[in-house]
Amino acid sequence: MLAYIGLGSNLKGPRKQIEKALRALSEAKETTLLSVSSFYQSKPLLDMPGPNYLNVVCKIETDLSALDLLNFCQEIENNQYRVREVKWGSRTIDLDILLYGDQVLATKRLTIPHPEMINRAFVLLPLFEIEPGLKLPLLGPLKGLLERIESSDVEKYG
Ligand code: ATP
Ligand code: CA
Ligand code: CA
Repeated sequence: MLAYIGLGSNLKGPRKQIEKALRALSEAKETTLLSVSSFYQSKPLLDMPGPNYLNVVCKIETDLSALDLLNFCQEIENNQYRVREVKWGSRTIDLDILLYGDQVLATKRLTIPHPEMINRAFVLLPLFEIEPGLKLPLLGPLKGLLERIESSDVEKYG
């Protein structure tokens, strides 16, 4: 199955944190890393305190079910000492499953497509970079989604 994952970090060397998580995704035998966007810099959501974020989107091929992919993503977060204090608070690493094939899912643990992705330039811009022709289940062409959002707070980085 093809899947897209959004990664973000604003603590403890964001670039290194993201690179480490990407390495974990590429080294797992059930997943193959197919492409990775540039780094993008964004401000914390809702003017939360804390350093700016770096964000990346990657495309993988995986044998894992959606739920096992979530488990694996959370294992990577735990391995990188992610601590959950306040919602949307600063973090060493965050991995969100954006899309999992054409699957649509709304369970207690997992909603796919990721419910906030359509509102987030730091997700849509890197996703567009690696897959400009993408059509999302339920939501339609990625290009149309990008045209609706404000993206001035997000820029390519490095
Ligand atoms: P947001 O989800 O708004 O980006 P967040 O990433 O800070 O916020 P987390 O604390 O990382 O939120 O995740 C909270 C819970 O969201 C996870 O425990 C997980 O069960 C659930 N979740 C639901 N859908 C998804 C998804 N598509 N990808 C990752 N986690 C998801
Ligand atoms: Ca997130
Ligand atoms: Ca998350």
